[in-house]
Amino acid sequence: MKKILIIGAGPVGLMTGCYLNKYNIQFDIIDKNTESTTYSKALTVSPATIKAFHGLQLADKLVMRGHQVDSVYAFYKNRCFLHINNKYLQSCYKFHISIPQPETEKILENHLLQSGIRVKRGYKLISWVREKEIYKVTILDENGMVHTSSYNFIIGADGAASTVRELAEINFNGLNYDMHFIMADVQFEKNKNIPGTSYYINEEGFLIFLPMSDNMVRVVIKKDGKLPSTRPTPNLQEINNYISKYCSQVGKSNKLVWSSSANFYNRIADENYKENIFLAGDAFHLFSPIGGQGMNTGIQDAINLAWKLAFYLKGISSAELLNTYRSQRFNAVRRVLNSTDHDTGLIAGMIPRQDIDDVYYPEFCHRDYYRHELPCKYAGFSALLDSSSDTMTGHHVPWYEFSSNKYGFRNTYDAFSSGKVVIFSAKEKCSVFERLKENTFFIFYRIEKEDIALTVLLQINNDEYAVLNPDGYLGFTGKETELIQYFTSLYNLSNSKASLV
Ligand SMILES: Cc1cc2nc3c(=O)[nH]c(=O)nc-3n(C[C@H](O)[C@H](O)[C@H](O)COP(=O)(O)OP(=O)(O)OC[C@H]3O[C@@H](n4cnc5c(N)ncnc54)[C@H](O)[C@@H]3O)c2cc1C
Repeated sequence: MKKILIIGAGPVGLMTGCYLNKYNIQFDIIDKNTESTTYSKALTVSPATIKAFHGLQLADKLVMRGHQVDSVYAFYKNRCFLHINNKYLQSCYKFHISIPQPETEKILENHLLQSGIRVKRGYKLISWVREKEIYKVTILDENGMVHTSSYNFIIGADGAASTVRELAEINFNGLNYDMHFIMADVQFEKNKNIPGTSYYINEEGFLIFLPMSDNMVRVVIKKDGKLPSTRPTPNLQEINNYISKYCSQVGKSNKLVWSSSANFYNRIADENYKENIFLAGDAFHLFSPIGGQGMNTGIQDAINLAWKLAFYLKGISSAELLNTYRSQRFNAVRRVLNSTDHDTGLIAGMIPRQDIDDVYYPEFCHRDYYRHELPCKYAGFSALLDSSSDTMTGHHVPWYEFSSNKYGFRNTYDAFSSGKVVIFSAKEKCSVFERLKENTFFIFYRIEKEDIALTVLLQINNDEYAVLNPDGYLGFTGKETELIQYFTSLYNLSNSKASLV
């Protein structure tokens, strides 16, 4: 078996490991830190990320440990101009979860530990030499010992200052905005009934409330200029002063638990897949924190990559499937970059403030955008392909519960969680599947009459097919002739005997 090295045990490296492990693919995972992070960092876990946890049967743990947030509100001079309501999402998780990043990471790391996989902590990637298809990697441990080992694939999930990106000579283009933010997790004596994630915007700047459990709230405040090198950690009084300036009705917090500051970035690497080196997460992209997309987008990179690498290594797919990581994640990431850049400009006043009226108020009348597109965007449910595509190809599979328990699936989320490629159709037979029958990685699911509503959700006619991939996205929708082309281009149809273990 070819060898894989994951650099970085942040949320993205851990998620990649968990999904590779689902297929019994062996890998090493190292992190230069001797212990996992204790910094609160990413708080907002999107419905798309909860869905990724569902694929590992870990969603319940995440939901139980976090705090559910149903809506996002934005106020301009204390007047609400936007309410994004998750209740319209086609998901069984119609909420974001507020949970500090160390908790999210703990769930994933414990999941790996239960399979006997331990992150090698205190191991730092230093360099590599490439000889044909092999990377001879040099790693320094915390005691100063040098280790060398050979790998075929390297996954750079090593964060913003990625060593992998640097060693692979991949540019990281973009900018730091001329502003930064300070933030604090603070507690209130009583529940302040902050209804959801709330943006308070005025002429000067903005303040964001992100509700957490135990009457805790994260407060984020925009400050002018680049982040000072001293990286300020605001105290309780400073935070309370800002709260009374932006929304005095909330009152004062009585306790500060954690505070920090960070830059607003907007960066993307030139390449995310080069000579068997993959970049994922912050190593690949950095966003403005508006909308809480950083970790969430990285987790979508992880699930997109892991099953493709597993299928490739098991000989089920051709290299073409692996190549789709490149284009699909570039498309998705560029879209997130553009939209966070736009939203940041708008709320930070870089786009003139009167444009808030022009940009958002008209959307209140535009029901479809307001009810569906906007919540989908913030939930991380945007499509992988260009928005010009008017089919469900490249979209997250919508939540649907089946009338029977065929193949052990009760719903579409359990279908992708099986780790298999599921072909849905109302047709009796599927000729491609006839060639794949013996391969345990593929299932043909004939949609029963009682479940015909699923064809409407998948936007397929009764004589068409929809292919659900193990990352929870629809890889294909359309007619049989195109389905054959799709499968022929991505899969080794002759190698039909591969099995799950
Ligand atoms: C204050 C703050 C608030 C945020 N809030 C949100 C939010 O609400 N929602 C959201 O989605 N995102 C948020 N983010 C962004 C989020 O924290 C990051 O996007 C996320 O941590 C990226 O995960 P990652 O696994 O790609 O990288 P990281 O979490 O940075 O992990 C990379 C790991 O690689 C290790 N590493 C680095 N170099 C090496 C090497 N040479 N050898 C071995 N190991 C190495 C590091 O030790 C680290 O553990 C926030 C960020 C900050 C700073």
